[in-house]
Amino acid sequence: MRLLIVSNRLPVSVSKENGAYVTTKSAGGLVSGLSDYLKTLGHTESDIDDYVWMGWPGMSIDKKDEEIVKGKVSQEFNAVPVFLSKELMDNVYLGFCNKTIWPLFHYFPNFARFRKEYWQDYQRMNKIFRDELLKEIRPGDIIWVHDYHLMLLPALLREEVSNPIGFFLHIPFPTYEMYRMLQKGSREEILEGLLGADLIGFHTHDYAQYFLRCVLRILGMENHMSKVYLPDHVAAVETFPMGIDFDKFHTMDVSPYPSKKAGARKPKSVLSVDRLDYSKGIINRLYGFEKFLQEHPEWHGKVSMNMVVVPSRVAVGAYRKIKSQLDELVGYINGTYGSMTWTPVIYQFTSLPHKQLIAQYRKSDVALLTPLRDGMNLVAKEYIAALQDQKGVLILSEFTGAAKELSESVVINPNNIDEIADAIAEALNIPVKEQVRGNTIMQERLRRYDVTKWATDFVNDLKASSMFSNRAASRKLLADDIQEELLENYHKAKNKIIIVNYDGTLVPYSKYPSAAEPPKALLGLLKNLDSQSNTDIVIISGRGKDELDEWLGGLPVNLTAEHGSYIREAGEEWRLLKPLSARWKQEVLPILIMYTDRLPGAYIQERDYSVAWHYHKADVEQASQLVKEVNDHLLSITTNINAQVFHGSKVIEISSAGVNKGELAMHWLSRKKYDFILAIGAGWSDELLFQTMPEHAWSVKVGLAHTDARFILDGQGDAITLMERLQE
Ligand code: UDP
Repeated sequence: MRLLIVSNRLPVSVSKENGAYVTTKSAGGLVSGLSDYLKTLGHTESDIDDYVWMGWPGMSIDKKDEEIVKGKVSQEFNAVPVFLSKELMDNVYLGFCNKTIWPLFHYFPNFARFRKEYWQDYQRMNKIFRDELLKEIRPGDIIWVHDYHLMLLPALLREEVSNPIGFFLHIPFPTYEMYRMLQKGSREEILEGLLGADLIGFHTHDYAQYFLRCVLRILGMENHMSKVYLPDHVAAVETFPMGIDFDKFHTMDVSPYPSKKAGARKPKSVLSVDRLDYSKGIINRLYGFEKFLQEHPEWHGKVSMNMVVVPSRVAVGAYRKIKSQLDELVGYINGTYGSMTWTPVIYQFTSLPHKQLIAQYRKSDVALLTPLRDGMNLVAKEYIAALQDQKGVLILSEFTGAAKELSESVVINPNNIDEIADAIAEALNIPVKEQVRGNTIMQERLRRYDVTKWATDFVNDLKASSMFSNRAASRKLLADDIQEELLENYHKAKNKIIIVNYDGTLVPYSKYPSAAEPPKALLGLLKNLDSQSNTDIVIISGRGKDELDEWLGGLPVNLTAEHGSYIREAGEEWRLLKPLSARWKQEVLPILIMYTDRLPGAYIQERDYSVAWHYHKADVEQASQLVKEVNDHLLSITTNINAQVFHGSKVIEISSAGVNKGELAMHWLSRKKYDFILAIGAGWSDELLFQTMPEHAWSVKVGLAHTDARFILDGQGDAITLMERLQE
């Protein structure tokens, strides 16, 4: 089995030197992390034994040279390049990705730029990735798409292939209020794009919850235990905090670089490492350090801040601005506080290779990491892992994903400059014993959940999630010969009954219940089926008898209303299935009226022996919270008043106890000895129907969901097609 990794950039950069193409391995966290996992493939019990990595090679390649580059990266890195023009990459990477998504998802809406062309090119790039992937994907491949550059890709692939598709977001997913600032159209399409995956992974529980809330608020789709049920698959949403290669950072020999702490008498070192990015809070950090120097003259000459800033996205204006601000501030602090023998801020604008970086980690007394927002922040984990003697203090912003796992560090709010200054003073005074205690606990955690475990967990969960979708799909009725068997069974049988639900099965679910009138063709179909020899048709519905009379009364078929309170056998009058009382309504109605006042858009529909509380017109989120309360409230009283509560699709229904579609089915089935039974339903109340069906019955659920039916049909249209095929 093969793992297909897809990311915007390949783990290798291609460049041209003296007319020849050369490759350099990229150093990012994702690349080094995943590379370690990929090395284990084929040597573990995992059934994945091979991989391919697809992405942009880092420069636009002349058409005539594409084959050369392809051969080179495939041989050296198991990679398949996706060729993209420079202009497209500029618009997408520097445009939609880094000027729209990045600032918005990191809570910097003022930096966000919304341009139609950025979005259109983002769509275009995702489609190019899809087309290139389709050339590469083989049956059985597992596809793992990475990060915010490719959020439309899962759904684009889902339309074409049935392979398991996973997606992992490496940056934060923002709250609804922030996310909704995206242009209309794009904000829906991105959520739908992500939901194309079988598994969507985030670094933290919060990000996963924010995503699910956006899905609810923007797409109106609820989730059950963090799973979103879509027509053709289930999208699971889970948390996988990305780890690091712990052993590498802990054990690497860093000689000849000095890595020992300077000791009590030499200046202490406060380390700061990040890419140049406004989200990293580098300016706040310097202000915090300055405040510390202001308030603690006793530390002058005894502590220096060692700042490593990695150049990044220099083509984006906001990044250039922050660079000059940074240069200015460092100059100011050093000019104001420094002396001939002491430089308060030692500043390098460069990217260090890991050996040198780990040496820096080990020789620092304190690491000061103050992002205003960061999806994870691997540097924090790497710092802790690198401390072979467990001595050192991490000061970490609570707005990083890593803070959730590194709670033994000094966790601060970096928006507050005083808090940064105080934290530095505190960190420099934490007793060594205490440092060792906290770091040992954190190291254990990082060792256990390292990057290989992270990737293994994700891939295993992806396999399980897609199996869940496939299990449901494998029972599908329309796709295979099972349908032929059903037809054969029908034609051979002597006594046949078709029990079919109305809303969602005979007609599509409608936003406005009174608009779900049966089309003429449907009336013709029902009439025709009913006239076939020895075929009884029963239409079951939760609707009232008057409504059914108006729409279906002219047909010679059996009807049942209010989930089975009333029946009308063909050619007869409506009657109660059994004696019922409606006294319980006096208790229930005041409660429903109270909740209707609390939830604008909700309304009550009262029938003879049932009451429905509809909330499909109400605010989705407010409704989804209040409904739990309504349900509990009703359940607490109905046990004593001979009524029962059912929770349907945006409706809560209360009916007399003992009335349901299961009881009803028993009534119809006891009339004759049927040797062909077909029961088709779409809603929650049809589950009771399925549960009471004898073993030989064909029970069919419309729509993918947990069900007791034996078979599943994709959509309402398929139910009609099936019934049409039953016509002789
Ligand atoms: N890094 C590096 N050299 C440097 C500074 C950083 O190789 O001089 C690496 C660091 O080891 C870490 C990554 O860059 O793995 C930064 O990841 P992080 O999650 O902290 O921030 P990001 O840049 O992804 O926002």
